[in-house]
Amino acid sequence: MTATTQPYTGARPAIPPSTVAQGVLWAFVAVNLLVMWTLFATSDGGKNTILTIAKFFGMHVALIMMFQLLLISRLPFLDRRIGMDRLTVWHRWVGFTLLWFVVAHATFVILGYAALDGVAPWRTFFALASVPATILGMSAATIIVFVAISSVRYARRKMSYETWHAIHFLLYAALLLGLIHQFLEPATFQTSTWSTVYWWALWALVLTSLAMGRVVLPVYRNLYHQFRVAAVVPESDNVVSVYVTGRNLERFPGRAGQFMIWRFPGHNRWWQANPFSLSAAPNGRSLRLTAKGVGKTSSGLRNLRVGNRVFAEGPYGAFTAMHRNSEAMLLIAGGVGITPIRSLLEECGGNIVVLYRAATPADAVLFPELQALAQARGARLHLLTGRTGAGQPPNTPFEPANLLHLVPDITHRDVFVCGPPAMTNAVLRTLRTLRVPKRQVHAEKFGFA
Ligand SMILES: Cc1cc2nc3c(=O)[nH]c(=O)nc-3n(C[C@H](O)[C@H](O)[C@H](O)COP(=O)(O)OP(=O)(O)OC[C@H]3O[C@@H](n4cnc5c(N)ncnc54)[C@H](O)[C@@H]3O)c2cc1C
Repeated sequence: MTATTQPYTGARPAIPPSTVAQGVLWAFVAVNLLVMWTLFATSDGGKNTILTIAKFFGMHVALIMMFQLLLISRLPFLDRRIGMDRLTVWHRWVGFTLLWFVVAHATFVILGYAALDGVAPWRTFFALASVPATILGMSAATIIVFVAISSVRYARRKMSYETWHAIHFLLYAALLLGLIHQFLEPATFQTSTWSTVYWWALWALVLTSLAMGRVVLPVYRNLYHQFRVAAVVPESDNVVSVYVTGRNLERFPGRAGQFMIWRFPGHNRWWQANPFSLSAAPNGRSLRLTAKGVGKTSSGLRNLRVGNRVFAEGPYGAFTAMHRNSEAMLLIAGGVGITPIRSLLEECGGNIVVLYRAATPADAVLFPELQALAQARGARLHLLTGRTGAGQPPNTPFEPANLLHLVPDITHRDVFVCGPPAMTNAVLRTLRTLRVPKRQVHAEKFGFA
């Protein structure tokens, strides 16, 4: 370790923030599983063994649903510590787990009643389909299966983000149907007053978290700050910066490296919302996003009018100095991935190296700002241009030997990387090869699961 790369003692918490938040989530699951299993063990089973198994799966379906809602609640406590990207990946896998538990619950219910009545399962299926409580459960299960199919990678690739999102919204209907189904069906948690209170209090807690994170906080923030477009500044042929002003911005809780989900009424439809990072650290007077034109919304941002209302959700994301472990940082950006990197450079002090990968110097948007900031912070800035693999020796700045050559003390640095998925993945592979501790590696991929 060189004299300039001393371990960062300043703000380093004893337990990393993401570990704290994950601990809270797993504690939620573990404690409620324990309570649920105790209730199950001490309650009467179903009318036969198969129906008892069905009950067991049904109870888990409800708890998995609650966990799903917590994962997507966008509560600042979870989002800032774990990050929306990771929470979304977990949500995806927990979603598929939910699917299998729903299938198991439904199958055992049908088999259980078929065995009880001594008839074929298909007859039981149609008989159950005429019982109101069961119809609700079946409808909820059908929606869950449909949404799960739409989320399989192949299907997901075939539809626009908005279509997929709209289909996902059906899950709220499944949630409502599932809740009524639970209310109508005699279940494990209705065995005593205590268990009933526990169960509905748990649901109330989860639904309140969801409403707070998804509705109350965003609406409150937008009413409080009244965001408006302050200026639109082209940065290149296809990149534009939008400055957003508003009221009480000195109380805006955003940090460098975070992103917001932006809606521009009049520019795009109300259901279209796009995530863009803050390309400048929040300064109490304005916010800034810098967008590369890739589709209709991002390409059209240069036509926004000054004074237009903006509705922005967030700030979101864990790509911040809150997760920093060391006094020394390496910031790596590729293309428009410079946006959160630029704001991190603005916010952070210490021993910083910035690597900015762009096809040509002309493609390096915000570069003059970056140079000024690097000079002010005493940071070392490298612009890495040229086509990857071109020339002799091949241009491969993120190969382990080349990266180590540029940043010899890399293993003692916190590395923040943001760029196109291929570049980000290449850098992450190299960091693993160079044995940079996992805890020091932070990536933003500009895409959710
Ligand atoms: C956390 C995060 C931060 C980002 N920061 C920046 C940034 O600072 N600068 C920048 O230029 N780009 C950024 N992006 C990428 C940017 O969001 C997309 O390029 C933009 O949304 C494209 O929208 P469009 O309507 O112009 O194009 P479209 O052609 O309509 O969309 C292209 C693709 O963008 C994705 N997309 C669109 N809307 C959303 C949404 N609401 N949520 C997730 N994905 C969506 C979808 O995969 C879609 O297929 C970021 C993305 C994420 C996830």
